[in-house]
Amino acid sequence: MPESLHHQVVVVGGGQAGLSMSWYLCERGIDHTVLERHRVGYEWRERRWDTFCLVTPNWQCRLPGFPYAGTDPDGFMGRDEVVSYLERYARSFGPPLREGVEVTRARPLPAGGFGLATTAGRLTADQLVIATGPYHSPAVPRFAAGLPSTVDQLHSSAYRGPRQLRDGAVLVVGTGQSGCQIAEDLHLAGREVHLAVGGAPRVSRRYRGRDVVAWLDEMGYYDKAIDEFDDADAVRFRVNHYVTGRDGGRDIDLRALARDGMRLHGRLTGLGDGRLTFAGDLRHNLDHADAVAEGIKDAIDGYVVAHGIDAPTEPRYVPGWQPPDGDSELDPAGLSTVVWCTGFYRDHRWLEAPVFDGRGYPTHVRGVTAFPGLYFLGLPWQHTWGSGRFSGVARDAAYLAGRIARHDGHRAVEEVRWIAGSPRDTYPDREWFVPRTAVS
Ligand SMILES: Cc1cc2nc3c(=O)[nH]c(=O)nc-3n(C[C@H](O)[C@H](O)[C@H](O)COP(=O)(O)OP(=O)(O)OC[C@H]3O[C@@H](n4cnc5c(N)ncnc54)[C@H](O)[C@@H]3O)c2cc1C
Repeated sequence: MPESLHHQVVVVGGGQAGLSMSWYLCERGIDHTVLERHRVGYEWRERRWDTFCLVTPNWQCRLPGFPYAGTDPDGFMGRDEVVSYLERYARSFGPPLREGVEVTRARPLPAGGFGLATTAGRLTADQLVIATGPYHSPAVPRFAAGLPSTVDQLHSSAYRGPRQLRDGAVLVVGTGQSGCQIAEDLHLAGREVHLAVGGAPRVSRRYRGRDVVAWLDEMGYYDKAIDEFDDADAVRFRVNHYVTGRDGGRDIDLRALARDGMRLHGRLTGLGDGRLTFAGDLRHNLDHADAVAEGIKDAIDGYVVAHGIDAPTEPRYVPGWQPPDGDSELDPAGLSTVVWCTGFYRDHRWLEAPVFDGRGYPTHVRGVTAFPGLYFLGLPWQHTWGSGRFSGVARDAAYLAGRIARHDGHRAVEEVRWIAGSPRDTYPDREWFVPRTAVS
């Protein structure tokens, strides 16, 4: 049967967000199609390393109609298990999904609705849901281009494992979740690792007998809406806490790794006179990460007392290593590889709608833009902490489905005619103009 050229709703992106959206649209009997340029699970299959594990416990994988049902709810699925979970999810309700179809351009039509150009032809929609994920283009600093050609460079999204890299020392840049886990992966494989430590906070894996995520969940942290914070922007764009789900879940203690031979540096500031330069903020960054982790424990202690919970006590963290003070430098000639764990830029240039702020971030309230019929789903902190993750996307999708059902916008015209041309380049100097999206 030929594909319809018009739908009430087109969902762009067939990751967990797009599929969740589809689940609720199916439940409400709303005509739609989900367009996915690759295959379901692509991001997890193709852009995670071999030893990747979720940092959130499996029980938090609660996609609509398909909560985690395996034997290890408190464990952390590996990469291939996550891909399988998503593939099984798609099979579980048979969404109207078209894989291998990329939307190359989308724009509002004068008569209402949206026109879309795709690699499989044009179509129209009354309403449009953008579920293309938050992590589009790898962000790598400009000075990377000045590194000698003897140094291999790759972004965290292209890292697979230690054997992928030539022999020799590796510099990992960034201590968000990817940076810490990749540095540890290389360290455990016996590689010489330098790590440029930024300002990311950390969290302990367990405290007082439970996974910290379980405490935070019970304490309502994942239900707190973004508009309850004084500075929503600061919350929305902050880097997530580092911790790992590897080996059943444990802390990432950079001080312990330093004691064990990993070379820690402060934030990488640039390349001067042929040498990589690092700020003298390593001590501060480690202290800050510890202070955040201990602050979370304070909050758990307070909750335990307030609710009279019988939870075992445990000793607090004692820093076992202190860095030397001062800036440091590194001769890149001594490195075989740099792994940039420096986040991503968003790239919505294919979407021509007046909803982006000066940084290229879509302005919205709970995913609903000011433009009638245009929605986003799966943005980090779209509504709550869990929005960009497995735990909270269902709630956001359910909310959008309600808004979509109530939409009284115009029907899009069947035939789309627009002036041919490339999408406007709204990001003249994207590399540093658009703030990086932290990896959650
Ligand atoms: C390293 C890393 C670790 C993470 N760990 C966790 C974790 O432990 N727990 C957790 O809950 N979350 C985690 N996340 C966050 C989140 O769960 C993932 O980012 C997840 O992939 C987001 O799902 P999504 O559906 O919103 O976006 P994506 O998975 O990115 O899916 C978007 C889809 O849209 C498609 N697409 C994009 N543009 C177009 C277009 N123009 N036309 C058609 N299709 C298009 C893409 O091919 C892709 O398949 C992690 C993220 C990263 C990067």
